[in-house]
Amino acid sequence: MTELKSKYDVIVAGAGIAGISAAVKAAQLGASVLLIEHYGFVGGMSTAGMVSPFMKHKVNDEILVRGIFEELENEMIYRKGMIDNGFYASSFRASAFELLKNANSTILLNAQINEVIRIGNSIKSIKVIANEEEIKIDADVFIDTTGDAQLVYLGNFPWVKGDEKTGKLQALTLFFRMANIDVKAVAEYAKQHKEDFFDWMEYDFDFNRIISIAGFFSFVKRAIAEKRLPEEIQYIFFTTLPDSGEGSFNTSNILGIDGSTSEDLTKAELIGRNQVYQIVKLLQEEIPGFEKAILLETAVQVGVRETRRAIGDYIVTGDDIKYAHKFDDAIARGCYGIDIHGQKDEQSRMEHLPEGDFYEIPLRALIVKDAENLLVAGRCISSTREGHSALRIQPTSAATGEACGALAALAVKDKKQIRDVSFKEVQKIITHNLTQKNL
Ligand SMILES: Cc1cc2nc3c(=O)[nH]c(=O)nc-3n(C[C@H](O)[C@H](O)[C@H](O)COP(=O)(O)OP(=O)(O)OC[C@H]3O[C@@H](n4cnc5c(N)ncnc54)[C@H](O)[C@@H]3O)c2cc1C
Repeated sequence: MTELKSKYDVIVAGAGIAGISAAVKAAQLGASVLLIEHYGFVGGMSTAGMVSPFMKHKVNDEILVRGIFEELENEMIYRKGMIDNGFYASSFRASAFELLKNANSTILLNAQINEVIRIGNSIKSIKVIANEEEIKIDADVFIDTTGDAQLVYLGNFPWVKGDEKTGKLQALTLFFRMANIDVKAVAEYAKQHKEDFFDWMEYDFDFNRIISIAGFFSFVKRAIAEKRLPEEIQYIFFTTLPDSGEGSFNTSNILGIDGSTSEDLTKAELIGRNQVYQIVKLLQEEIPGFEKAILLETAVQVGVRETRRAIGDYIVTGDDIKYAHKFDDAIARGCYGIDIHGQKDEQSRMEHLPEGDFYEIPLRALIVKDAENLLVAGRCISSTREGHSALRIQPTSAATGEACGALAALAVKDKKQIRDVSFKEVQKIITHNLTQKNL
């Protein structure tokens, strides 16, 4: 059972991949850390949303994100819960718990942060609904990894939401998994009907590895015309797991939802679950290779790509991503491009970086503007909508989380304000995520 103290060096709000990485790092560096999570398990989108695989984080054979992210991967591989870059949510949950336990970080689950108490520009405490009551807990440094910038919002610090001009937010997706798929039959069908699939598909299938299949455009079109699928569904996309006949589907498409409100999230759950039913029926009844396939599970919650973003001392822009900008105070690197899943009347966009290049993320993007002791990482990092669409992926969220953990632990150890900690000191701790020039 969690023995709660009234004060910690560092409080991390939200236990997605960014929060886990922040909490493990700060605790490994000796800080007393409390990680608070609304669900009864850790992982956020990676587990509750069942989002897999890990997106691209390698250029020219160089892995850009290592550290805690790699520790997590290794633990999942050890538990046989990860193949290539794909993983099971159950393995992620168990592996992340192991890392948090080994680092001596305190975890408080089933707890909802609902108030931020400020003194001037500093957060003094947060209030949490836990143990059937409201508890007040203090900390020296707070890290907002709630995905929705909840601490920023509750503390009345600056934030933005959605597209700068239209306010649009990216589409939502409810993940699901199927079993008993005859993967070879599906792959053969795709090979014979390339015009019915995305151009980027590769057909030299290696059945010992994860395979991505995306398209089935003619089936989708017909089903929409016959009102067996809603118009929002544009294609069917899934990744397989070797030898198991299992597939993970990232294909439902839920529009017009603000994923930071309970009312809209309720609508999204109803729409998403109905879409999954319709897609599964189509697969089972019409698509070669799915004749005996069954629905294994749907994610605990609908996957939310975009809500609030903090405004920090630096705002990472689309140009920073597209033109692979580098910074003296870099604390993480990424190579995933701009990826916006379009809303109603909005074109989806995927813009890759020049082959072999990467961008850096400056430390200043982790420090919330006007706040003396509030950091932010993961999905709600300080960025424009375009910047966010690239930075939101799991490996980058882990890297920014780890950097926050390092900065927070240094501030506490040296009794400094977060802005008085030299970026060089932070870089020394996370050399594995940086280029030689920063060291
Ligand atoms: C449909 C979809 C597909 C995606 N595809 C990929 C992909 O293929 N590969 C990839 O790498 N990335 C992908 N992503 C992106 C990636 O999954 C997320 O952006 C990333 O996991 C976010 O991690 P995070 O830690 O910042 O936030 P989250 O995972 O959202 O975690 C935030 C946590 O904070 C908790 N929380 C929130 N508010 C409170 C509160 N008030 N009190 C207590 N706890 C709170 C939440 O319960 C949650 O556990 C996808 C995302 C979606 C939605």
